[in-house]
Amino acid sequence: MIKSSHLKCAVAGLVLLATLRCQSQPLWDLANENKGLLKIATLFTAQNVRDHLGTGEGISKAIDWCKKTGVTHVFIETFRSRYTAERETLERAKSRFEAGGFEVSGCVTTTQVGKISTGWNLISCYTNKGTQKSLQEIFEYTASMFDEIMIDDFLFTDCQCDECEKARGDRTWADYRCELMVGMSRERILGPARAVNPDVKIIIKYPQWYDNFHNRGYEVSRETADYDRIWVGTETRDYADKRWGGKVQYEAYYIMRWLGEIGGPKTGGGWFDPYGTTENTYVEQARQTVLADAKEMLLFCYSSLLRDNGPANVEKLRTEIPGLFRLAGLVRNKPLKGILAPKPPNSDAYDEQYVFDFVGMLGLPLVPTAEISSDAKAAFFSVHAIKDPNLTKKLKKMLAAQKPVLMTDGLARRLDNVNLDDEDLIILKVNGKPRSLLELNRKQLKPIRDKLLAPFGIRFDAPNEVALYLIGEDCLIVENFNDEPVDVSVEFSKPVKAHKTLVLPIDGDVRLSCSRRRLNFSTITPRTLAAVEY
Ligand SMILES: [Zn+2]
Repeated sequence: MIKSSHLKCAVAGLVLLATLRCQSQPLWDLANENKGLLKIATLFTAQNVRDHLGTGEGISKAIDWCKKTGVTHVFIETFRSRYTAERETLERAKSRFEAGGFEVSGCVTTTQVGKISTGWNLISCYTNKGTQKSLQEIFEYTASMFDEIMIDDFLFTDCQCDECEKARGDRTWADYRCELMVGMSRERILGPARAVNPDVKIIIKYPQWYDNFHNRGYEVSRETADYDRIWVGTETRDYADKRWGGKVQYEAYYIMRWLGEIGGPKTGGGWFDPYGTTENTYVEQARQTVLADAKEMLLFCYSSLLRDNGPANVEKLRTEIPGLFRLAGLVRNKPLKGILAPKPPNSDAYDEQYVFDFVGMLGLPLVPTAEISSDAKAAFFSVHAIKDPNLTKKLKKMLAAQKPVLMTDGLARRLDNVNLDDEDLIILKVNGKPRSLLELNRKQLKPIRDKLLAPFGIRFDAPNEVALYLIGEDCLIVENFNDEPVDVSVEFSKPVKAHKTLVLPIDGDVRLSCSRRRLNFSTITPRTLAAVEY
């Protein structure tokens, strides 16, 4: 016999559950309708699996949170920092999520595997055979449960122990580490995982620090060719944050587009986190990731989004998700128009680290690329370009065709044989401090923008830190990263009819008027994105 109090409890529970379901349905339904365009994912780290997915109740809570957040794809991690999640817990969580209508993949974070590096204490020494064996076992274990496995962005090494030193011989550290990690991937990850599970697809997720990849053994050409899929770290966080700061928002866009070109159809999503962010800078990461044509965005990670600034960030993101789907629709499969901005793979940045990010913040619409093509209508060249042995030839060809070129002072210093007084060439004074570009004012930026944008029949006038994106033939996006409202104008060489199609955040205010050849944004509120079609 059931006691009536138990029955009441059960009924109340069901009512609560039904209410929860009702409340969570709209974003979940929308996310399912749009997942072919843009998927929203999250990660349960190995420790999250232990702490949050160990009980039926914990899994139910996680499912509810995902549905409310539009998350339709979950990554369940097997290993991170010496901890291996238990098979039984992983398998139960996987089947519960699948039964709930989710796509489920695995994940591995290769921190603290085997022998620890002489450098960062989260990183391992991969010259060491014991580390190699442990790495292999982790991937065999994971491939026995999952058909897709993401590798978080710790698959590199900074070790300089005696073993590494001896194995390196007379090669540079960059060359040795690239060889080592390409070999690790083939022999200790891809081969063994595929032997256990012939259907497994493995994703290499590249970190955000693209100018240092090769120095620590990330080799985007060969690794992208070897792996089934690639993903991208887009966690720019808050430029001003003391602990996590120093990255401008455009970096997420630059790296996602740059790797998107390298990876082609292998390119999956971008991945960002809540550390050192406010609600405003958190959602800027999402916008830049989606603007850069990511097919998916991953919200790292479940436990971090439940504490500190996580809940407020997620609350704000939820309000932007319908707009982010529209943004994905505006950029998908559209060619970019703009200034070629090449970083050849494995190129050194010297004292122009991440200069592309800062140049993008100046309101110059960049076309991130790995290759220098003199077919481009306009180009920006930094010291990275020296990696291309044909740089001088290509540069001369562009200048001979009277195409505008913006070149850093660092590159100009390193080139002989090029006429630096050419009237189509502008030297950008970086002075070895890319961040100093943020100090350029509107008046100083105008001649640079006018020259570089002339081949596209556009003039753009705005303060610094207002980015411009030219998408396809008929879409233009402006994003104000300032904490103050700005006024902006765009002038076309021929008459246009334009209308505003998207504003983010949802309470952003963008006042647009259009008269013949001119678009006038009399106001764009702080940290606001506006898309215009014409
Ligand atoms: Zn070592």
